[in-house]
Amino acid sequence: MSDASPSHHHRRSSCRGCAGRAPVAVLDLGLQPPANALLAGEADFAGERRFPLELFFCPDCGLVQLLDVVDPELLFGHYLYLTGMSDTMRAHFDAYAGQICADHGLGADDLVVDIASNDGSLLAAFKARGTRVLGVEPAANVAAIANERGIDTVARFFDETVAAELRAERGPAAVATANNVLAHVDDPRAFLAGMRRLVEPEGIVVVEAPELRHLLDRLEYDTIYHEHLSYFSVAALARIFAGAGLGLERVIDQPVHGGTIRLIARPGREHAPEVLARIAAERAAGLLDLDRYRRFAADVAANREALCALLLEARLEGKVVAAYGAPAKGNTLLNYCGIGPELCAFTVDRNPLKAGRFLPGSHVPCLEVDQLLERMPDYVMILPWNLAEEIMDQQAEYRRRGGRFLVPIPQPRVLA
Ligand SMILES: [Zn+2]
Repeated sequence: MSDASPSHHHRRSSCRGCAGRAPVAVLDLGLQPPANALLAGEADFAGERRFPLELFFCPDCGLVQLLDVVDPELLFGHYLYLTGMSDTMRAHFDAYAGQICADHGLGADDLVVDIASNDGSLLAAFKARGTRVLGVEPAANVAAIANERGIDTVARFFDETVAAELRAERGPAAVATANNVLAHVDDPRAFLAGMRRLVEPEGIVVVEAPELRHLLDRLEYDTIYHEHLSYFSVAALARIFAGAGLGLERVIDQPVHGGTIRLIARPGREHAPEVLARIAAERAAGLLDLDRYRRFAADVAANREALCALLLEARLEGKVVAAYGAPAKGNTLLNYCGIGPELCAFTVDRNPLKAGRFLPGSHVPCLEVDQLLERMPDYVMILPWNLAEEIMDQQAEYRRRGGRFLVPIPQPRVLA
């Protein structure tokens, strides 16, 4: 147990990939509040909880990870990210369901179970193609949104016990999917073993996760927050999948969230040769060497210097800088860089659960999107940089009136 907040946090003493005892600290992002814990009002500022946010690398299995684990109830109990809110994600899920249905010949008898199904956006795309669907979503308020739209969803934390119960109640699944959740769980091997238990012998397990090489190559350090316990290379994943009795059949690159991989696995198989080749390429690129992480940490520190210099210069010129969006990654960035309302006056967000609140740690106020035109800041820093094009299209009027956008990473820069 830790000193920061004994009742809501603990620090692991071993690697969650291989149980090795020697993960090495590579990047310290400081004490940070949970990145989705927006605050209702100024009265909440003083009681805000902060926890260590520090990245480790395991030289034994290559897994990059946090060892500080904040209680899931604190992180996910009132989850505010709704996948269906983004046009980009809606299109992604539609193509996703289309590909799986076509490649695996799914029909009306086939059950698709999505773990951490959020508002049911992916399952809606499967349902539209005629399959049976079931969602498993830990956040009760988000599960309720899915059920209201007609996507059958149980509000539970997924584990092997829940997997066994669901299989007994609903029968085996043809497909079990889990997107952007494997990195959230403290025991990914047990989670995958639960997915294996859900599917029929010829069924498939499909997992999407952000890929580590993009975090390194594009300096996406803002995607490090307490909810993301693991940062996966294919090498580290392959070892964990094998430990759960799953063989990787394919690894498919996806452009969402700044670089994601879709992994397709089957029970009781060996990893395919193309997957082994990809692991060899990672090794050749240095992803399994501590030196690569030392260099990454130095680049992150340089980004903070450059971003703060840019924002200070704007303030000295009398310019107003605001932000767009209130994603978790934006909060890591603002808090690590020490950017508060004096450098970033406010942000705006389309999500009605976020507008009207304050960002955790930085206490930057989050307003309705129409405030962008109302207040016309000189610059708008796009925090969800993976959606930059969509946001700039939506806010064409702000640009037409002379407003300018900037992105913070990999190099802080004003967009033309
Ligand atoms: Zn390890």
